[in-house]
Amino acid sequence: MHSAAIAIGSNLGNPAQNVRKAISALRGVGDLTAVSRLYRSEPWGEENQPQFINAVVLISTTLEPRELLTALQEIEREMGRTPTYKWGPRIIDLDIVYYDDISVDEPDLKIPHPHFRERSFVLVPLAEIDSRYADATAALPDPVGLQVLE
Ligand code: ADP
Ligand code: MG
Repeated sequence: MHSAAIAIGSNLGNPAQNVRKAISALRGVGDLTAVSRLYRSEPWGEENQPQFINAVVLISTTLEPRELLTALQEIEREMGRTPTYKWGPRIIDLDIVYYDDISVDEPDLKIPHPHFRERSFVLVPLAEIDSRYADATAALPDPVGLQVLE
């Protein structure tokens, strides 16, 4: 069994519903051992677009990293994600944040996910469910521009 963290984001259609739907779909990829609350965040990178809803889950899976990436892309496709521009609006985005303690540096797969430690919309939900990252949020800029979804 392998342990991975998956970051989920959406800012099109009904983003909270999309995130919850993705969480359900991820149950087919492995055992979800923890699920964060949902957070509302300001768009990152390209600011002229709707707010995002984000969450992070921890998954216990037999899939190897590349198989996991394929499974995530399959969920994105089934949920109707169509390509836009880099950092553009999306129905659903599923990223591998970490996978065990391995490093992968290939053009289409980078683990740990680049810069996740600087992104409050990944790090804050992650810290909520993985105590190893509890202290890492202290390094984030303040205010973090993140709200828990009621
Ligand atoms: P981003 O998530 O950076 O906004 P996309 O979701 O459009 O961008 O993903 C672009 C590509 O990122 C994917 O086709 C995938 O091959 C690649 N990628 C590299 N590392 C990862 C990772 N750790 N998790 C998910 N996708 C990744
Ligand atoms: Mg992605």
